[in-house]
Amino acid sequence: MTSLRLATLGVALPLWLSACAYSGHSVRVAELGVPRSSRAMEAVLDLPGTVTVETVVSADWYVPLSGLLNLDHPKAKAAGLHDRDEPMHIYFHALRHPSRGLFVVDTGVPRAFRDDPPASGVGWLVRRELHLEKMVFHVPFGDWLARQPDKLAGVFLTHLHIDHIAGMPDVPKGTAIYAGPGETDYRAMVHLLLAGSVDGLLQGHAAIGAWQFRADADGELAGVLDVFGDGMVWALHVPGHTPGSTAYVVRTPAGPVLLVGDTCHTRWGWDNSVEPGDYTRDQAQNAASLAKLRALAARHPTLKVRLGHQE
Ligand SMILES: [Zn+2]
Repeated sequence: MTSLRLATLGVALPLWLSACAYSGHSVRVAELGVPRSSRAMEAVLDLPGTVTVETVVSADWYVPLSGLLNLDHPKAKAAGLHDRDEPMHIYFHALRHPSRGLFVVDTGVPRAFRDDPPASGVGWLVRRELHLEKMVFHVPFGDWLARQPDKLAGVFLTHLHIDHIAGMPDVPKGTAIYAGPGETDYRAMVHLLLAGSVDGLLQGHAAIGAWQFRADADGELAGVLDVFGDGMVWALHVPGHTPGSTAYVVRTPAGPVLLVGDTCHTRWGWDNSVEPGDYTRDQAQNAASLAKLRALAARHPTLKVRLGHQE
């Protein structure tokens, strides 16, 4: 999500405002998620599973490439990449588990972005920075959910940036929500502008269940959880883009699928192992997490990789 340039706003902000958390939304300990090692996950990863994944393009959008990709990286310089408006998708992914029901990873965009932007909960200043006029709407989350015969059992978030939680106004109140640890309380100056909109999108929703990651005994990943305890859906801690960034691995009948989230937004970034740009909080940590996911994919050639914002 956008790292707003305060300077362009023409507002002189005193330094004390830097102590602003990302969201005041309440957080609880997730009741789901059994800590496992990466070796335990990888022992079953390639076995056919029972959960299906439907990836939905909720909207198309254009954002500066400098946000999505570290253009100062030597590989980006060698490739002659310069800042430009880069096309991207805003996705959500539907997971259908035979006994646990329907879950989604991230939420796409809400109907209100298309129909009545002020009603979305996102403030006018943030809406202006988001350039909603560059957004082409395909399947707002509420339109999709209205067609589903099953009740939504829960939302698994890769992180709390606005382009991933924007669909929350279309999620029924009381639905269980999960995200990585530390997503609401990390502090930055820009959060002064964003926090009201983040809280607006989450308003009335249940407390966020924070994944309880433990250090991976094998050291391949920062933390691995078996979400339902049956080896079908896995949450992987990939800190860097945000403190609690989480990727998900789903075992489908056609093989495993990796939902990367914004540890890598772009196809070029994945192919060249170059981390995101301005939108990432800690580029070095993000780069390390990206390297771990690429190594996982290299060890498991059957793994289908779905990136944060491009095919
Ligand atoms: Zn994103």
